Order: sequence, then C-alpha cells, then structure tokens
Amino acid sequence: MIKAVRGTRDLLPPETALWNFVEAAVRDVFRAYNFHEIRTPIFEETQLFARSVGEETDIVSKEMYTWKDRGGTQSDEFGRFLDLIEEKLDLSVTDARDQIKLSRSTRGLYGQWKGESLTLRPENTAGVVRAYIEHKLWERGLNKLYYIGPQFRRERPQKGRYRQFYQIGAEIIGPPSAGSESPARDAEILELLATLLDRLGIENWTLQLNSVGCPNDRAAYNEALRKALEPVVGQMCADCQRRAVTNPLRVFDCKVPADQPIIETLPRISQFLDEPCRRHFEQVQEILKSVGVEFQLNDRLVRGLDYYSRTAFEFTHGALGAQNAILGGGRYDGLSESIGGPSAPGIGFAIGEDRMVLALKKSADAVQRKPDVYVAPLGAGMDREAARLARELRRHDVVVDLGDETFRLKKSFETASKLGARFILIVGENEVKAGAFALKNLESGEQVSVPRAELPQKILAREHS
Ligand code: AMP
Repeated sequence: MIKAVRGTRDLLPPETALWNFVEAAVRDVFRAYNFHEIRTPIFEETQLFARSVGEETDIVSKEMYTWKDRGGTQSDEFGRFLDLIEEKLDLSVTDARDQIKLSRSTRGLYGQWKGESLTLRPENTAGVVRAYIEHKLWERGLNKLYYIGPQFRRERPQKGRYRQFYQIGAEIIGPPSAGSESPARDAEILELLATLLDRLGIENWTLQLNSVGCPNDRAAYNEALRKALEPVVGQMCADCQRRAVTNPLRVFDCKVPADQPIIETLPRISQFLDEPCRRHFEQVQEILKSVGVEFQLNDRLVRGLDYYSRTAFEFTHGALGAQNAILGGGRYDGLSESIGGPSAPGIGFAIGEDRMVLALKKSADAVQRKPDVYVAPLGAGMDREAARLARELRRHDVVVDLGDETFRLKKSFETASKLGARFILIVGENEVKAGAFALKNLESGEQVSVPRAELPQKILAREHS
C-alpha cells in the first residue's frame, strides 16, 4: 500500500470543516483590518531563502526541500542554450566565433539554464517581499497583505509538527514614507492577533514580546555574545560551537537540555538596544497597554530566522504541549535590501494553522453544516425528477443531498439519518403529478405535503424554529 509521505497527512472531512471555519474567521478579521490576500508560488529560487531567512538558521541549513531543476537533455543541450541566448539577448548566433565569445560571457546563464536550484517554500515572508520588489508594490504606499497556504520543512515529525504544514500569515510592508516603521503598525498587528484568537475562542494564550534591536545594536551584542561564549562554548553542543563563530545569536535556538544553563547566563539583547530601538519598543508596549492587550516581556526570544529586527513575538498556548508556539512574527526592516530591493520596513507574523486547529475547543461536527434535506427518489424514472428538484432547492441555498431511485424507502431513510439531514423529501410518481411532495422532519417525525414552489422556504424556515 502506498501511504502519505512521513510528516505529511491527509485532512479529511469532518476535520476540514474546522479548517474552513478557521480560514473563514481569519478572512473576516483581515477584512476588518483592511488586509488583502496575496498568493505567491509554492517554490522559489533557493537563494531567496538562503539570503533572507539566513544560512545559519536551522531552516536553511537543515530543513529545506531543495532540488536542482532539470535543464535541457544531454543531446540538444548546447543548441537549446543558444536558442535561449538569442531570445534573451535579442541577437543571432550564426558561427563558431560568436559561439566561443558567447560561451565566455554567458557561463553564469548557462549554469542557470542547466538547472537552477529551487526550494519548496519553508515560510512565506521571503516570497511576499520578493513579490513586493518584483511588482514595485511600494508604488501603492503601505501594503497590508495576508496569505494562507502550505509550507515545507524537513523537521522531525511529531504531534503539531509536520513536514508539510499550513501557515496563515500577514505582512505590513512599504516605504518608510508610508509609515511602515511606525510602532503603531507593530501594535496594530499584535492587537489583530489578540482579536483573532479571541474570536476563534482560543483561550489561555500568552503573548511573549521582545525587541531584537537593529543592525547597530546587533554588532555590539554579537561581540558581547562571542566574548561570553568563548570560555564556555567547549562544553556546548556541536551546533552551538559552530554558531558561536558564525552567528552567535542563533545559540538561543538551541534545544539541547545540557546547554540551557549556559545559555541562561549569556547577556541579553535588551541591554544593548540603542535609544531609537528602545523608544520604538516602549511605544509598542504603550499602545498595547492602551488597547488592553496583555503581554509578557521575554528577552530570550530571538526567533529562528535571521531577518528579524526590533519587535519579535510569539503567542504560546498551554494546551499544545511541547510544540506550544501557535504563531510567531516580528519586524524585518532590512529584509528587502538583503534580497536586492529598496528600503521597505515591514512587520508580519505566521500562525501555524495545524496547531491553531489543534487548540480549538470546538469540534468539527459543531461547525459542519449538515444537509438540510435528503431528496429521495422513489421508483423508476424518479432520478430525473429528483435531480430537477434538487437543482431548484440548491439555487435557493438549501444544502441538498440526493439519493438514488434504486433505493427502497427504508434505505433512503437510513441514508438520510446517517448524513444527519434534517428533512427527507420523497419524490415519487404521485408527488410529481400532484406538484406537492412529502416532506418529513427527521428530528420531530412530523410529515407534511408541501407544494413545489413553497419547498425552499419551508425547509429553510424550519431551521430557525
Ligand atoms: P516560524 O515561521 O518558524 O516563525 O513559525 C511560525 C509558526 O508556524 C509556528 O509558531 C508554528 O505554529 C508553525 N510551524 C512552524 N513549523 C511547523 C511545523 N513543522 N509543523 C507545524 N507547524 C509549524
């Protein structure tokens, strides 16, 4: 038997009803905050993630699904390459001399054509910022964008951690002149999240808040970290020993229990914030207090991606166990520049939708809309009539499930009950002739004969009685 690949899973009904419930609620909230949807490709050039998320992060160094895309076939390789050159550079390659000249100047292009390195997106912020640059979205001023979709990381699977998982995320990004750096945007994002979790009925969440400073602070902080690590790093895990040299901030990502007491003693970023960063962080907190969103300061929180600056945050949820981070995010003021774009400060978050669904108290049954009516054709030739009737009802937004004329009445009743339909509607020859149908309420047992034209109102009206 062929099974779903480790770390991936099928989402089946009725659970998918919960996913739809979450996504519909989320879209409502985004609408109220004037966010608009963006959909970026599932795969991108590998270097996009290497340059934005960071080479030394767990995501880029260990967890990405990367492959070399197939170029041309062996036999026609060079010929097709030349076709590409002609097309790209708008010139014609006619003789050998031209070919040799070209082969010198176009080695890079050839490499690209032979097979570029592609990666399944491990997160969506890099793709959004790439799209921002590619489509010059700064011309629109401040962009408030959201996305919903799958992400891929080769992590060790466990409850709440998958290799294909789903994120719901949002970004506020734009040129500084549009106010993209303002602490008001950070607070707006955090207040939106509090609203969203409350709206979904997710209780007992905690907002953990930190500022990881700007490149200014980071240089001094990294220096201090290196110094503090020097005498102790020999006792730490191999990853930490490497990080201490290449990117000491990433030491805080370490999950090795034996390393934790050492990490506890390291200097914290909060002591290294410069005046503008400190002020920015204070303003975020002031607005949060004014709107009544509670938070905890946590200066160990540095998030597992390099692109964050200033505000960084996580919402955790008690009931989720080891994988208790339900969402995370922060500011990424230098990200656009790091992938070749203009200055475009931004802030965003990503919710783990899988974990959000796990944390929901509601059951899938509670949010699933059961059929309003089961239309039961009775006897030969009645499938045609039942199909017409079902079509009429569905046009009136009645949820209809449709039976089969070969079923005996008893089987139709059993099927209708199993589906949880509120009504069963019998379509037999007599009913069709009379233009009135037997409608039975499966909850109360009441049965009435209803003229065709009144069926939609009768069926829907009962819902509220
Ligand atoms: P990150 O992009 O690492 O900041 O993650 C944001 C959120 O996505 C986390 O708080 C989790 O809820 C969720 N998440 C990250 N990785 C996984 C995974 N492998 N499986 C399920 N959810 C994940």
